[in-house]
Amino acid sequence: MDSESFELLLSTVRRFVDERLRPLEAEVDRTDKMPDRIIDEMRELGLFGLTISEEYGGLGLTMEEECRFVFEMGRASPAFRSVFGTNLGIGSQAIVFAGTDDQKRKYLPKLAAGEIIGSFALTEPDVGSDAIAVQTKAAKDGDEYVINGVKRYITNAPRAHLFTLMARTAPERKADSVSCFLVDADMPGIKLGKPDKKMGQHGTSTCDVIFDGCRVPADALLGGVEGNGFRTAMKVLDKGRLHISALCVGVAGRLIEEMVSFSTNRRQFGQKVSDFQLIQAMIADSQTEMLAARALVLDTACKRDEGESVVCEVAAAKLFASEMVGRVADRAVQVHGGAGYISEYAVERLYRDVRLFRIYEGTSQIQQLIIARETIKAHS
Ligand SMILES: Cc1cc2nc3c(=O)[nH]c(=O)nc-3n(C[C@H](O)[C@H](O)[C@H](O)COP(=O)(O)OP(=O)(O)OC[C@H]3O[C@@H](n4cnc5c(N)ncnc54)[C@H](O)[C@@H]3O)c2cc1C
Repeated sequence: MDSESFELLLSTVRRFVDERLRPLEAEVDRTDKMPDRIIDEMRELGLFGLTISEEYGGLGLTMEEECRFVFEMGRASPAFRSVFGTNLGIGSQAIVFAGTDDQKRKYLPKLAAGEIIGSFALTEPDVGSDAIAVQTKAAKDGDEYVINGVKRYITNAPRAHLFTLMARTAPERKADSVSCFLVDADMPGIKLGKPDKKMGQHGTSTCDVIFDGCRVPADALLGGVEGNGFRTAMKVLDKGRLHISALCVGVAGRLIEEMVSFSTNRRQFGQKVSDFQLIQAMIADSQTEMLAARALVLDTACKRDEGESVVCEVAAAKLFASEMVGRVADRAVQVHGGAGYISEYAVERLYRDVRLFRIYEGTSQIQQLIIARETIKAHS
């Protein structure tokens, strides 16, 4: 995308956040429902197709552009981004990275237009961080595979038309035993569990997806080959983690905005609380950490765009940015005093919302393991 069009996209998103999304945040949190009209507006703005190439009807943003877009989106409640987040990332990128031409032609234009919603189904009741251990089985039967198993906490599953599903096609515990399937959500043998009630990010939807003798044609196999599921999932998550890191930066910026707005209006001991140096220290530490995370995210995104391997940098960005926004949210509540604990104030909601960032798309502990592994490898 040329720089003029990209700047226009950023200013459109900034306006959309300020005029359409922020006024709805409290209602979406209270009702735990995303208004259909907002989803339609996102579709009209082309937000579902930002990362899908122009050839398939998207905008084909680079990673750096995607991160800069997400910085802006993060200024609104992260629930809004989640509506189209799976289509941009974990619900479409397996097809982009490893799909056959037919699979790309079949799904990518519809994902880019927001006509269909894609979900990524890896986690299971007994399998989370140890993703190579997936228990869902796909057994070959003539020209079909028969899928049995349960997937858990699947984002956007209640609205999904397509699942990128990781299932075991061989018994051994190794990467080659996991395959990836593109499963239409209306196939017989798929049931949804009840919607999960979550601590934060209300308005986003997750639930179990139960595969019970679900038969899919052999051409549902991603890329037409068995055994590439685990590697594809890791590649998808690697990109997704950088996207989430950028989101953490965006939300941290919003929290700092809330801290400054509150503390410059609230008066105690005859002066604004923002005049107290102990309050200023919390603002300064938050701004410093947010800027450090922003720089790490952009540096990693640029390296990725240049074709460098950034496995370590992505894990470091996810670890640092998600832990950073947790600290910033905690300070934001503190700066608000009692008001920070009251749901009328955005920081109470954001404090709950950001807790998820340290958990999904790989916990902080899993990022630490990746960083250590890559660092030791690089220096041995
Ligand atoms: C709101 C939400 C949305 C989600 N969306 C999706 C989705 O769309 N698709 C999907 O597939 N999944 C999704 N997930 C699942 C998410 O990715 C997992 O919850 C996450 O990867 C952690 O897995 P787990 O919950 O099984 O925790 P576990 O793996 O059981 O971990 C429990 C604890 O043990 C720690 N731990 C585990 N292994 C190690 C180790 N080797 N060393 C040190 N510590 C370790 C973890 O860090 C954690 O603290 C979602 C989860 C939530 C809550």
